[in-house]
Amino acid sequence: MFQINDNFTKIAGNYLFAEVARRVSAFQDRNPQRRVIKMGIGDVTEPLPEASIKAFHEGVDDMGRRESFMGYGPYEGYAFLREAIAKNDFQSRGADIGADEIFLSDGAKCDTGSIQELFGANVRIAVPDPVYPVYVDSNVMAGHSGLWKDGRYEGFVYLDSTPENGYVPAPPAEAVDVIYLCFPNNPTGAVATREQLKTWVDYARANKALILFDAAYEAFVRDPAIPRSIYEIEGARECALEFRSFSKTAGFTGVRVAFTVIPRDLKVPDSTGKMHSLHSLWMRRQATRYNGLSYPVQKASAAIYSPEGKAQVKTLLDFYLENARLVREAILSVGVPCVGGENSPYLWVRPGGDSWAFFDRLLNEAGVVCTPGSGFGRCGEGHVRFSAFNSRQNVQDAIALIKQALTKG
Ligand code: PLP
Repeated sequence: MFQINDNFTKIAGNYLFAEVARRVSAFQDRNPQRRVIKMGIGDVTEPLPEASIKAFHEGVDDMGRRESFMGYGPYEGYAFLREAIAKNDFQSRGADIGADEIFLSDGAKCDTGSIQELFGANVRIAVPDPVYPVYVDSNVMAGHSGLWKDGRYEGFVYLDSTPENGYVPAPPAEAVDVIYLCFPNNPTGAVATREQLKTWVDYARANKALILFDAAYEAFVRDPAIPRSIYEIEGARECALEFRSFSKTAGFTGVRVAFTVIPRDLKVPDSTGKMHSLHSLWMRRQATRYNGLSYPVQKASAAIYSPEGKAQVKTLLDFYLENARLVREAILSVGVPCVGGENSPYLWVRPGGDSWAFFDRLLNEAGVVCTPGSGFGRCGEGHVRFSAFNSRQNVQDAIALIKQALTKG
C-alpha cells in the first residue's frame, strides 16, 4: 500500500507567502476598487541589464545555427561562466575559489532546499530565527526535526536573532553539525562583520560542523569592511559551502540562475568515520538529478561580468538601495524602530505586538503589503519585513500611506 513520507505531515501551517497572497487576494475581493502596493515579497521589478539582454539574444541566435548549436551542457555549468564568477566574485576579493568549485543551478532555493540530501540521518541542525523558511521546511521534510511545538520544531537548535544581539546570533553553547547562516540576512537585513563570521568559522572547525552560508544578497553590500563571502574568512574552505544567486544581483528571478560553491578540500565523514569529498558527492548528486542551465541563460549571466554589465548591475542595485533608504527614513521618522536597508534590500521594522495584526492593519488602512515577521520564526514576532524591490513611484506612494497609517496611532 502506498504511504506518504510522514515528515510532510509535520510541516506547520501554510508556506508564509502563500498565506500573505491569500489575505491580499481576500482583501482585493472585498475592496475591488482599492489600490494595493506590495512591499512584502522579495521579487525584483526592474528589467534585466541591457548587457544580459544582448547576450541572451546572441545565445538564442547561436542555437539557431548548426555550427554554434549547443545540446546538453555540463551539469555544473559552462566553464566560461564559472570562470567569470570565480574571478570577479571571489578571486578579485581575495577569496581563494576556483571555477571548478562552482556548481551552477536554476536557483538558490533549489540548492538550499536540496543540499540536505547529503546529510546523515541524525545530524543536529542549527537555524537562525527569524529565517528564510526553506532551510527549515526542507530539513523537516527530510526527517531532520522532531514535531512542531509552540512555534518551533523539536530537534532543531534555533539561533535567536534579536534587537539585543543586533540580529546577528553568536554560536550556541552546545555542539551542532550543520549551521545555516544568511548575510546580508533575509528577513532582517543584518550584515555580519568579519569578526562575527570568524567566530562561526572557528566554532565550525572546533565542532567539525558544516556551515551553509547563504550569500544571495551579497551584491547589496556597500560597506567595504563587511565580507561578501564566507571564503574571505580564514579556514572557511575547510568547513563551509556558499550559496549565491543572480536573482537579486541581476534581476534574474524570472530567468533562474544561481550557484553553490563547494571547496575541493572540504572533507566530511560518513557514519563509519571514513572521509569523503563533499564536492564529489554534490557533483554525483547533480549528475543524477540535474541537466544544467540552458546555454542562452548562461550567456546572459556571463554578461553581467563585462564592463557594461557591471556598470548596469551597479545602477540597478543602487536604485533598490535608494528605495530602501527612502523607506527606512520614512519609518524612522514616525518613531518606529527599523534596521537593515543599508547593505540589504530588506528592512526589518519593529512596531511591536502581533505581526499578523500589524500586517492586516497596514493592508486595511494603507493598502500596503508587508511580510509579518512571525512567519519567519518566533523571534520575528513584533516585526514586519519591507522589501525595497519596487518602482520608485510605488515606494513613494507606499511611504506616504504607511506614514499616514502609523501616525494615526
Ligand atoms: N536565499 C535567500 C536568503 C533568499 O531570500 C532567496 C529568495 O528570496 C533565495 C535564497 C532563493 O533564490 P533563488 O531565486 O536563486 O532561488
